[in-house]
Amino acid sequence: MLPQEIVRKKRDGGTLNAEEIQLFVKGITDNSVTEGQVAALAMAIFFRGLSIDERISLTLAMRDSGDVLDWSSIDAPVVDKHSTGGVGDNVSLMLAPALAVCGAAVPMISGRGLGHTGGTLDKLESIPGYVAKPDNSLFRRVVKEVGCAIIGQTANLAPADKRFYGIRDVTATVESIDLITASILSKKLAAGLQSLVLDVKWGSGAFMSTYDEAKALAESLVLVANGAGTKTTALLTDMNEPLASAAGNAVEVLNAVNFLKLSHVDNRLWDVTVAQGGELLHTCGLYPSAEAGCEAMEKAFHSGAAAETFGKMVAELGGPVDFMEKAEVYLPSAPMEVPVYAEETGFVTQIDNRAVGLAVVELGGGRVKPEDDVDPAVGLVHLAGVGSPVNSDNPIAIVHARNEDQVKRAQAVLLKAYKVGGAADVQETTLVGERIAP
Ligand code: URA
Repeated sequence: MLPQEIVRKKRDGGTLNAEEIQLFVKGITDNSVTEGQVAALAMAIFFRGLSIDERISLTLAMRDSGDVLDWSSIDAPVVDKHSTGGVGDNVSLMLAPALAVCGAAVPMISGRGLGHTGGTLDKLESIPGYVAKPDNSLFRRVVKEVGCAIIGQTANLAPADKRFYGIRDVTATVESIDLITASILSKKLAAGLQSLVLDVKWGSGAFMSTYDEAKALAESLVLVANGAGTKTTALLTDMNEPLASAAGNAVEVLNAVNFLKLSHVDNRLWDVTVAQGGELLHTCGLYPSAEAGCEAMEKAFHSGAAAETFGKMVAELGGPVDFMEKAEVYLPSAPMEVPVYAEETGFVTQIDNRAVGLAVVELGGGRVKPEDDVDPAVGLVHLAGVGSPVNSDNPIAIVHARNEDQVKRAQAVLLKAYKVGGAADVQETTLVGERIAP
C-alpha cells in the first residue's frame, strides 16, 4: 500500500490495521516515507484520532523500529517509571535505588530537560566523572550488580519515534494524546520492561495543565501499555508547585542526596516517591499490595540502604566513590547565592510553576533549543511551597547564579510567579490524585 493511501484512509476517518501502521512506520525509519507524508499522517491523526488498537499497533511498530533490550539474564522484575515532567522533579534519583533495595532491577533510561521542565540526565551529569552514556556492557553490569543504573539513551531505541517526533514538533501536531501515548511508550517499552509506573502530572508546571487532560493521557497510556504487554498503572500528581525545594541540576542532585541521607527531606517529594515506588513494587509482583510496597520503600529510605545503593551506582558509573559523604564538595556551585523576598509578607497562595521552571532556564540551567548546553551550577533552592510563610526571614527562594544580571531576571520572574495572601487564602490541595489501572 502506498503511504499516501494510508494517509488518505486516516484523513477520511478510517481505522488503520496493524499491517498498514507497520508499513508506514518502516517507511518513517528507513526514510522511504517523505517528511510531507509523515506530517500529513500526523495531522490526520491529530484530527481523526486513533483507536486503542491503532495506538497499540503504532506503539509496537515504533518500539520495534530499533533495538529492544533483553534482560532475561536478570533474575528480578525489570521495572521503570516515566514522569511527564515538571519542576523540581528529582523523584527518579531516589526511586531507582529504593526499588533496587526492594528487589527490582531498574534500567532507567532518562532524558534531557527541554523548556521549563528539567531532565534527569542533565542533573546526573553535574556529578564529576559520572558516565551518563555508558556502553552496553557497563550498563548491564551496573543493573545486575547494583540493581539500578540511571543513564541516557545509548542504544538505538525507537528511532521511528525520533523522526516522527521531530516532524510533529515543527508541524503543530505534538498535542495529540494518541500520538503522545505511542511516542512515550515506544521508547519505554524498547527498554525491555516488565512493569512500568507512570507519574502523570497536572497543573501549572506540567505538560498537561488540567486534571482532566492529565487523566485522559494517563488512561490512554495505561490501556496502551497493558495492551502492548507491559503491566502498567499511573498516578496523577499535582505540579502546581515545585515538587522539591530545589530546581536546577546540581542543586537537585544535592537535594536528592540530602533526602537519601534523611538530612533534609521535602515532604511532597517523599510522598510522591513512596507512592510511585509502592505502586510499582505491587504491579511487578514483588509485594502483595501498593501499601506493602510503600512500607518497603519507606524502610529502604529509613535504613539507609537506598542511600548506599545510590552511592554505589554513582561510583560504578565513574563518579566519586565517596560522593554521598562529600556531595557538596564535588557538585559544582555558582558564585552568587541571593535570596529573593516577596514584596509583601504573608503566605504563598499560588505559584505559576511553569514560570519557576523558566526562571531556571533564564539562569542557564535549562534549554531553549535541544542542542543548548546547560549550566549545572545554577538554580533555585529553598523554594517556598504553597502555604509557606514569606517574610523578611523566609524568602521565596535563594537564587544560585553566575552574575547580577541573571539574578535580576530570575528575581523578576519569581516575584511575578508567586502570589502572596493571608493564611485563610491558602487552599488545600491533593498531591497524589487518582490511580489509573487497566
Ligand atoms: N514526550 C514524548 O516523549 N513524546 C511526546 O509526544 C510528547 C512528550
